[in-house]
Amino acid sequence: MRMVDLIQKKRDGLKHTKDEIHYIVKSYVDGLTPDYQMSAWMMAVCFQGLDKEETAWLTREMMYSGDIVDLSEIDGITVDKHSTGGVGDKTSLVLCPMVAACGLKVAKMSGRGLGHTGGTLDKLESIENINLYLSQQQFVKQVNDIGFALIGQSGKLVPADKKMYALRDVTATVSCIPLIASSIMSKKLASGTDVILLDVKYGEGAFMKTKEDASLLATTMIDIGTSLGKTVRATLSNMNQPLGNAIGNSLEVIEAIETLNGHGPEDLLELCLQSGSHMLVMAKQVSTIEEAREKLIHVIENKTALEKLKEMIKAQGGNEEYIVNPSLFKKSKYVIEVKSPVSGYVKDIAASALGIVSMKLGGGRETKDDAIDYSVGLILNKKVSDYVEENETLVHVHTNQSLPDALVNDIVNAYTIVDSKVDKPIIVEDVLK
Ligand code: URA
Repeated sequence: MRMVDLIQKKRDGLKHTKDEIHYIVKSYVDGLTPDYQMSAWMMAVCFQGLDKEETAWLTREMMYSGDIVDLSEIDGITVDKHSTGGVGDKTSLVLCPMVAACGLKVAKMSGRGLGHTGGTLDKLESIENINLYLSQQQFVKQVNDIGFALIGQSGKLVPADKKMYALRDVTATVSCIPLIASSIMSKKLASGTDVILLDVKYGEGAFMKTKEDASLLATTMIDIGTSLGKTVRATLSNMNQPLGNAIGNSLEVIEAIETLNGHGPEDLLELCLQSGSHMLVMAKQVSTIEEAREKLIHVIENKTALEKLKEMIKAQGGNEEYIVNPSLFKKSKYVIEVKSPVSGYVKDIAASALGIVSMKLGGGRETKDDAIDYSVGLILNKKVSDYVEENETLVHVHTNQSLPDALVNDIVNAYTIVDSKVDKPIIVEDVLK
C-alpha cells in the first residue's frame, strides 16, 4: 500500500477499506508515513468525511495503537464521563463524587487545558501535593477501595491520538467531526470503563458552534461506543456563556466545593443532576431518571458527595483540608471589579473571550509547556438573563498583576446587554442514546 494512493482515494471521496485504515494509522505511528502525508490525508477527511464504518475502524486502530487499561479487577460497573471542552467547566469535580457517593465505580481519566478551555488536571493541581499519576494497579485499587479515582492518562495510552492531535492543531484539521469523534472515543475506550456519559457542548465557547453539529458529533460517538459493546449516552449542553460563575483553576475547585455543599450555581448543579441521573440509570443503579435525581440531591444534602471528593484527594496524597477549608487555596494579590458601561439585561456572554482573558492572566497555557498560575481567574457577577445597572460589577478579576485596559475591554465586550428581558437559557438541550 502507498500513502499517496490513499490520500488520493479520500480526496476523490471514495470509501477506505478496513485494511487501508489500519495501514494509515499504523504506518503513521511507526514513523513510516511522514507528517505531511498524514496532514494531507486528514485534510481530505475534513472535506470528504468518513462514513460510520470508516470512523469506527479508525477509532479501533487508534485505540489499539497503545496500552489498554484493564479494569476487570474492579468490582462493579465502572463509569466515566467526558466533556468536549468548555469555559468554566468544572463538572467532573462535582459530578464524579456525586455518582461515586451513590455507589458507582468512577474510574476517570482527565486531561489538561489548552487555549481558552480549562482542564480538570490543572484545576486539581491547585490542591497541595495531589498526585494525578497512579499506576494501573494503584488506580484499580483506589476505585475498589473508595469508588473514585481521577488521574491523568499514561503516556502509553493511544499514541496515535497524541501524534495526530498535535498535527491537527497546526494544520487546521481540528474541527472535523469524524476526527474529533475518533480522537475522543479512542481515549475513552482505551481507558476501559463500561459506561460512558458524553457531554457534548455547543455554542460560542465550544468546538461545535451549532446544536446540529453537536448532535452529529454525539451520535457519531454513541455509534462508535455501542459498536464496541459500551453503554453510551450524550447530553447536548449549551456553552453560550461560561458554566457556573468561576473561571480559573483554584476558583473553579472552590466553586465545585460550594456546589457539593449545596450552594453552587444553578446551571452547574442542573447539568450535574441531569448527567448524573443518566449515569445512574445506565449503570442500572436505579431504574428511572426521577429516582436517580432524588438520590443525587440526597448525596449533596447529606454531604456524602463532598466527603467522597475529600476521600479521593486524600487517597491521592493531596491535602484534604482544602476541601473543608477553601481559604487554604492560594489567593491572588488583587481582586479588581469590572463594571458595566450600560444598564440592561445580559443576552449572552462570549465564553471563549473570557477563557482567553483568564489564560492571559496566567490561568491557562498558550503552549503546552507554559506554567500555570492557579490563583488567577474571573468570578462572574452577572449571567445571561440577569439585569445589570450601569456601573454595577459584571466580573471580579483575580489577578497578580495590574489589569491592562485591553483586558478590561475584552471583558466588557464579552457581554451583550440589551433593553428587553431575556429568558434563562436551558442548560441541557437534549439527551441522545
Ligand atoms: N478533544 C479531544 O480529545 N479530541 C479532539 O479532537 C477534540 C477535543
